[in-house]
Amino acid sequence: MMPMRGRMQPNYQRPKPPESLKDVPRYLSELFGGFFKRFFYILKLVWNTGHWIPILLAFVALFRGVTPVIGSLISQRILNGLQTAVANGGLPESAFWSSGILYLLIAFFAYRLLILIVNSVSGALNRIAGEKVVVEVKRQIMEKSKEVDLASFDNPVFYEKMENANREAGHRPLHILSETLGVVSSVIELISFLVVLLSVPGLSWITLVVMAVSVPSAIVNFTYRRKNFHYMRFSSKERRQMNYFSGVLVDKDLVKEIRLYGLADDFIARFFSAFKAYYKGMRKLIVNESAWHILFAVITGVTNLIFYIMIAKQVFTGEIQIGDYTLYTGAITSVATCVSTLIASTGSIYEGTLFIDNLIAFLNEKQTIVPALPNPQPVQRGIGHTVTFENVSFRYPGAQKDVLKNISFTISEGETLALVGLNGAGKTTLIKLLTRLYDPTAGRILLDGKDLREYDVESLYRTFGIIFQDFGRYALNVRENIALGNLRKESTQEAIEYASSQSAVRDFVEKLPGGYDTPLMRIFEQNGTELSVGQWQKLAIARAFYADSDILILDEPTASLDAIAEQEIFSQFDKLRHNKTTVFVSHRLSSATLADKILVIDNGCLREMGNHQELMDQQGEYYRLFTTQSKRYVEQTQ
Ligand code: ADP
Repeated sequence: MMPMRGRMQPNYQRPKPPESLKDVPRYLSELFGGFFKRFFYILKLVWNTGHWIPILLAFVALFRGVTPVIGSLISQRILNGLQTAVANGGLPESAFWSSGILYLLIAFFAYRLLILIVNSVSGALNRIAGEKVVVEVKRQIMEKSKEVDLASFDNPVFYEKMENANREAGHRPLHILSETLGVVSSVIELISFLVVLLSVPGLSWITLVVMAVSVPSAIVNFTYRRKNFHYMRFSSKERRQMNYFSGVLVDKDLVKEIRLYGLADDFIARFFSAFKAYYKGMRKLIVNESAWHILFAVITGVTNLIFYIMIAKQVFTGEIQIGDYTLYTGAITSVATCVSTLIASTGSIYEGTLFIDNLIAFLNEKQTIVPALPNPQPVQRGIGHTVTFENVSFRYPGAQKDVLKNISFTISEGETLALVGLNGAGKTTLIKLLTRLYDPTAGRILLDGKDLREYDVESLYRTFGIIFQDFGRYALNVRENIALGNLRKESTQEAIEYASSQSAVRDFVEKLPGGYDTPLMRIFEQNGTELSVGQWQKLAIARAFYADSDILILDEPTASLDAIAEQEIFSQFDKLRHNKTTVFVSHRLSSATLADKILVIDNGCLREMGNHQELMDQQGEYYRLFTTQSKRYVEQTQ
């Protein structure tokens, strides 16, 4: 793959394993440094979503950490109190009321009730917080997507990361934060039970053994979380293929072709072949991890059994009471569970923070389409404009060769320029450069004598009214689809109707059930109307009329219109442009006859330039294209 000019790299790379003992600190600092950086990023994100969220999570974590030992201590006291009574052959009822057992029972149930309340409240707040964090992350992604360079979208690495960020990043941050605070709870719980166990002579070594036995299983857990992450990354192509092939089969636009060519079974087979490749490795990971867990579960079980026997024996011989038995065995189980949870959660937090990298990388993506000057000027509006290309060359990021080579020309005020050339010649690319969606790799483009890069970008964009080949179709109503051309303008019925009449939208809108308020596409509304490609195209043209821009650009806007409709649109355009500078690309050369200047682009180079008559007289490429087309046209219409 070509270097990506500083664009988004696959930004999580495993730190390089240490080469020597001296190299270990470097490895650890990279491993943990990256982790903490990502973790604080998440913390900041959640904090900014709502300060109450991390505060609430921290409170719940403390509560969950402290409560288990309190419950165990109360239970111990209750059981020991009862055992004393049993050992004395039973006591009178009056002694029960004064024994304190009643208060302990009340305390125990109050404790259980409190846990229940805290759990329900925190569960509800957690869900609310989850929704808020998801929306906050989506907001950040949408805000960022407003400014990311178009060139970034051409970079597959960037695109994949953006999709992943969009899909994954929403639910991960809160999950990671809750898990981290779960670790805090486990640490507090662990310490509190260790205090209980280590204060009993003879139990301290048992405690240490129990802790030690939990470690390997936890390490397996940690290791497999990492393997899992790397596997998911490694097989992301297969997973995307699975999504793609299953998506294709339910795609409304593709269903006709799939039915008529009988493609469904082939796509299903392709889905399964991607799944097979993905599943093979995944199954191996799952099976191996389970095998390890079973092994360690047996070891832990046997060790615990030995300790339970030892403690039970002490109760039997009267060295300790029955309440102590429940406290100690419970504490041993809790210590083992806490150690495993600690390491396992750390693994899963670690894995989660790696996924967050996609989001961080996306949000940090550098924007290059920015003004080159500190105080960029707005474009002067409402005047005729001159555009000059000076030795402009362009290469798409990551591509092997230039798509445009050393192009120079001028469009004078009020002129109409037609771009002509075969498919793939570079016409659309030239328009993308003219509108500063991309910057040239070499040379410069001047608008009214100043480099495009010196203008304020938003004001520059507003100067152009453009209809792309792949113009937008929005699931909004007709009126809204037109008004998108200029959201700063108040959308009066008059303005909408005016734009519609110029683009022949009016003819079909009046036949629609709801007129201008008819919802388009059947994505949200049952009564949504589906338009034909040609009708959509007219709507896109109406949008450009509505935009009140100074420079009109049409990139094969009439591709789906019949020859007569196309001619109508072009002559309409010609009338309406009121001496506006206009650029259009059309594969039908008959429309080029209208232009003041025609550029013939061939394989990225400017081959010929002149008006229709001049180019015909030259008998070069334009002449060849024109005569071939008009011959075909005459043949077709005969
Ligand atoms: P035209 O409009 O004349 O049909 P384009 O300007 O769309 O031609 O494309 C010119 C060349 O640039 C083609 O070879 C096309 O494959 C390539 N190209 C277009 N868009 C991209 C892109 N985003 N990334 C890389 N190459 C591209």
